[in-house]
Amino acid sequence: MRVPMIAGNWKMNTTVSEAIKLVNEMHPGLDKITNVDKVICPPFISLAAVKELIKGSSIKLGAQNLHFEERGAYTGEISPLMLAELCEFVIIGHSERRQYFNETGGIVNKKIRAALRTGLKPILCIGERLEENESGRTEEVVTEQLRSSLTGINYPSSLLIAYEPVWAIGTGKAATGKQANETISVIRHNIAKLYSKEFAQDVLILYGGSVTAQNTAEFMNQLEIDGALVGGASLKANEFLSIVRQTSVIRRAE
Ligand code: PEP
Repeated sequence: MRVPMIAGNWKMNTTVSEAIKLVNEMHPGLDKITNVDKVICPPFISLAAVKELIKGSSIKLGAQNLHFEERGAYTGEISPLMLAELCEFVIIGHSERRQYFNETGGIVNKKIRAALRTGLKPILCIGERLEENESGRTEEVVTEQLRSSLTGINYPSSLLIAYEPVWAIGTGKAATGKQANETISVIRHNIAKLYSKEFAQDVLILYGGSVTAQNTAEFMNQLEIDGALVGGASLKANEFLSIVRQTSVIRRAE
């Protein structure tokens, strides 16, 4: 049985005081919701403050990126060792990092290795661009992204995957539940080929891309979709709470 997860990616939003305010708004409600793992991923500089606020609660913490080296002359970077003191999860290979910071499959691979080595749980993001989707190359693209991200990595037991079609991120144009379910099923099949059927059955695969309180049920009613990575809607306390609550109710009923 895979426990569903809703993770909020706050991206480059919220100052430290805004992050504290947002956590205070969602904390009591979020803490009470059971049978869903709830993860929030604020900017690096707010991790320590948020960690204190959620101490003793059921809310978990993640970062949005990391450098693959543990320490050294990499001005401005944040290492896995630094993050391991603060949080449990780390988003790796988000399409915005691939697009704006030239993160290649090779870099993503190094980051996954670094996270695993340090005991951080990587949330690996993969997904096709609009033109790749329109030319029917979705399967090929996600298969290649999985291969390059995971090549040479033995049984990454704490790995999570987020299928995030690039054309759906921040556009308000989400995939349909059926489309997302089909691609996630391909991803699971590939994980079985790379590792084993058992591992593929256990690995959590989330959908991400314009998830809102309005379309949550469409995704959570799909068998292969284990939760969501939520961007914009995770910055509104009530909306994020509604997404998590709906997920809990739908999955409890199954
Ligand atoms: C994301 O940032 O991972 C994301 C899915 O963003 P949004 O929900 O805003 O599309």
